[in-house]
Amino acid sequence: NGGAADAKNLRVKLVLLGDSGVGKSCIVLRFVRGQFDPTSKVTVGASFLSQTIALQDSTTVKFEIWDTAGQERYAALAPLYYRGAAVAVIVYDITSPESFNKAQYWVKELQKHGTPDIVLALVGNKADLHEKREVSVQDGMGYAEKNGMFFIETSAKTADNINLLFEEIAKRLPRPAL
Ligand code: GDP
Ligand code: MG
Repeated sequence: NGGAADAKNLRVKLVLLGDSGVGKSCIVLRFVRGQFDPTSKVTVGASFLSQTIALQDSTTVKFEIWDTAGQERYAALAPLYYRGAAVAVIVYDITSPESFNKAQYWVKELQKHGTPDIVLALVGNKADLHEKREVSVQDGMGYAEKNGMFFIETSAKTADNINLLFEEIAKRLPRPAL
C-alpha cells in the first residue's frame, strides 16, 4: 500500500497535488537538492525523485516522490497518479484563494479514493510573500484540523519549514509491526 521495507527502513510513495504554479516542484527540489531556481520552467510530464531521511529513533524513511503536471490539467488522470500512495502532500499558495479552494477539492478526493490510512498534509507555500497573503494561517490550519490533516506553511524560496514538512510526515507514518 505504498509502505514497504522493514520496521526500521520504511519506503513510501509520496504524491504532490495542487494547482499549477503553487510551488510543488520547487518544494521537491528544495527538499531533495537544497536548491531553488526561480527561473525553472513549468513541470513537463512526470518527474520522480527520492530522498531518504533519518529519524531520531534511527528509523529511515525513503520518500519516493511523484511530482507530475498531468493531474493539474486532467483530473481524470489523478487516480493513476495517487494510487498506492502512502502520503499525499496537498499544496496551495497563500497568495491565491483559488489554489486554497483547489486544495480542498483534492482533500475530499483523497479522503474518498486514496489509500486507506493515507497520511494527508496540507501545505500553504510561498509563505515568504506575506505582503501578498490572501489565505490566513487560521483558514489553512482550521481546515486541516477539521479534516485530521497535518498543516504547515512553507517557503521553497527561503527553505522555511521544508525539511520540517517531510520530518513531520515521516513521524506520522503507520509503522509496520516489529
Ligand atoms: P508547480 O506548478 O506547483 O510545480 O509550481 P513550481 O514549483 O513550478 O513554481 C511555480 C512558480 O512559483 C515558480 O515561478 C517558482 O519560482 C515560484 N515559487 C515556488 N515556490 C515559491 C516560494 O516558496 N516563494 C516564492 N516567492 N515563489 C515560489
Ligand atoms: Mg510542477
